[in-house]
Amino acid sequence: MPLVSMRQLLDEAAKGGYGVGAFNVNNMEQIQAIMDAARETQSPVIIQASRGARAYSQDKFLYHLMLAAAELYPEIPLVMHLDHGNSFETCKSAIDLGFTSVMMDGSLLEDGKTPSTFEQNVEVTRRVVEIAHAKGVTVEGEIGVLGGIEDGHGAGGSGLDHVTDPDQAVEFVEKTGVDALAIAIGTSHGAYKFTSKPDGSVLKMDVLIAIHKRLPHVHLVMHGSSSVPKHLQDVINQYGGKLKPTWGVPVEEIQLGIRNGVRKINVDTDNRLAITGAIRKVFAETPEKFDPRDYMKPAREAMKKVVAERMTQFGQAGHAGDYAPIPIAEMKQRYAAEAVAAK
Ligand SMILES: [Zn+2]
Repeated sequence: MPLVSMRQLLDEAAKGGYGVGAFNVNNMEQIQAIMDAARETQSPVIIQASRGARAYSQDKFLYHLMLAAAELYPEIPLVMHLDHGNSFETCKSAIDLGFTSVMMDGSLLEDGKTPSTFEQNVEVTRRVVEIAHAKGVTVEGEIGVLGGIEDGHGAGGSGLDHVTDPDQAVEFVEKTGVDALAIAIGTSHGAYKFTSKPDGSVLKMDVLIAIHKRLPHVHLVMHGSSSVPKHLQDVINQYGGKLKPTWGVPVEEIQLGIRNGVRKINVDTDNRLAITGAIRKVFAETPEKFDPRDYMKPAREAMKKVVAERMTQFGQAGHAGDYAPIPIAEMKQRYAAEAVAAK
């Protein structure tokens, strides 16, 4: 199956009332872990690469690995998405390379650190929508600012500093025409999201619900949504790691989000933890080993387990065969027809 449009995947998720995990990758083993989990659970899937991942892998390597995944797992609808594009040029280069979906994170300026103004965000996102839709590519925008920093991207600080304003979210969608909208509801990137199990004072599910009521047909995206389960932290610390106690976004809160318009859930930290724990275990228990496969195999397996679990919890499991992929060229025509209708 060729790479699929994220818009189609999320439209189908909305019809079926489920969410789709978007998992970050940097290398072959992570892509294999996700594809194996997708096959095992029969899930459509979004694989995403950040700017950091594109630099680390020389993105052409990553792109061809994605094509291999599409070829080897033809029954799985698969989206290749750019996570947190920081500028028009970054998004354009991803579209030119063959990504079927891009995120333009205009909530920050091009430095990936300084919060932008609403007008700046609208302007750059609208320009990306224009070139992306002209090629049938999906666009995710962001309004409000996530907490924390990951891969050098983020304003830092608390997730509560710039929680999304529902009125602004409506205006943003109208002015930009984005297909999916990332919102800030108190979550942060990285492992250290909350200092105790989050309640409504730090994780603003009420804001999410208010936005969904105003924008019932817009696909909402939860970023920074690893659950950071204790058992994954424990494996790392048991084998010599030094993670401080931390809490992520509980799965039941994500499921509440899915019942209220969340269609894409970004998960990276949980997979990083699983991989690192598995590798530490091999190093600690069998220090005589030195073949990279001896620890990359268990690492891949540990990540696959986490991904399969999330696919089941988000409800995407069992939905891989629900629909035939719409070719990207056909998506292009649909966007053009929509634009004509709007005028
Ligand atoms: Zn993010």
